[in-house]
Amino acid sequence: MAKDVLRQSQIVGLFGPGAMLDLPERSVIVSSVDDWNMRGPNAFRTIDEPRLSDMLRERLTADGRWIEGRPLNLRTPPIGNTDPRQPSPQIQVRAFPAWLTCDDPTAQDARRRRMVRWTELDPQRRMYWVDDAGKRQQATPIRFVCGCKKGHLQDIEWKQVIHGAIACAEPMWLEESGTSAEARDARIRCGCNKSITLDELFIKGRLGKCYGFRPWIGDREDGCTELLRLLTRSATNTYFPQVATVISLPVAEDELTRRVAEVMGYMTAATNPAIIAILRTANPQISENLKGYSDEEAFARLQQLRDGATAAASKDPHVAEFELLASGRQVIGENSSGARLHAETLNRDVWDPDRDPLCAGIASLVAVHRLREVSCLYGFTRFEPAPLVEDELEDVGLAVEGAPLGINNDWP
Ligand SMILES: [Zn+2]
Ligand SMILES: [Zn+2]
Repeated sequence: MAKDVLRQSQIVGLFGPGAMLDLPERSVIVSSVDDWNMRGPNAFRTIDEPRLSDMLRERLTADGRWIEGRPLNLRTPPIGNTDPRQPSPQIQVRAFPAWLTCDDPTAQDARRRRMVRWTELDPQRRMYWVDDAGKRQQATPIRFVCGCKKGHLQDIEWKQVIHGAIACAEPMWLEESGTSAEARDARIRCGCNKSITLDELFIKGRLGKCYGFRPWIGDREDGCTELLRLLTRSATNTYFPQVATVISLPVAEDELTRRVAEVMGYMTAATNPAIIAILRTANPQISENLKGYSDEEAFARLQQLRDGATAAASKDPHVAEFELLASGRQVIGENSSGARLHAETLNRDVWDPDRDPLCAGIASLVAVHRLREVSCLYGFTRFEPAPLVEDELEDVGLAVEGAPLGINNDWP
């Protein structure tokens, strides 16, 4: 059987832990990162991007989703290997939902489908349901589940939703009238003839309160106060990844931060770049640490560090990216195959030879030849997209809370 293979960018973008997806043979939810098989010598790579890991650690700790002080590493998803003798690292999934529907020959109308639970399917493969006449019927996962805006997710308790507290052991059917996939055209009917249209399930509170189930982790979280809401599995509002992205700056940028930070204590008198020049001649350690960097660069970095932005970057990585690209340096980064960033500030004579008044508002133009962008999936939301981590840093506030990708790892 061919393995199901996903591109790494799909995992970070669309199919991370907690996402539901339809594989050729069944519907599943992607398991938490705790369950992924990351063994083997080349199962994954760690990504060294301190600006991104610092930002995430700070943000997730503030959100209560990361234990204070726990190191945070960035990893690639499992990397498929090309050697068939080696076991391939794998992303784990769990079957979800647990309610399915099957053709039922005893029903007069072909659009009336029998509802069965996962546990009623053939025990070996869980693919078929044996109908009342002894025939095998292929099971199709039901389209409707429910969840809350904290990301919790569960099957709809169909029996309970239809009957309330009254126990009823009759089988149930999904009846679809009309040709549309509209909720108002679908009805779940019990053998006792009690029924409910899917439309009614949109009524606030009709599905009951959320119990905090997290099927991607396999547990439940206490204390959720939300009401359950209907989710159509194939709809786009079932999963919004929370992804943070930075551009990798040349190592020298972080190196400069380190070098300036080391001698910062001796530079309290520096109020402008000219004083940096004086301090260099007066203090051999400053001179040593700032070797290769201009007074202006050193002063700018000193200012950032003074602004409380330890690793200025960790506060807002995009400011650091902008500052570098807008630095006016002719060559930014370096032109080599191993370089993470190579850009050039274009000479104004090239792009604005006549000093066109329309171009007056453009301070400089930078050609970026090569860059590395690192994106990290750090959570997800349902129903509504979450603000980006960068927005949150600007205090837009958490309109939607993110759900964790796992609970026991040193990577998000
Ligand atoms: Zn009933
Ligand atoms: Zn909940």
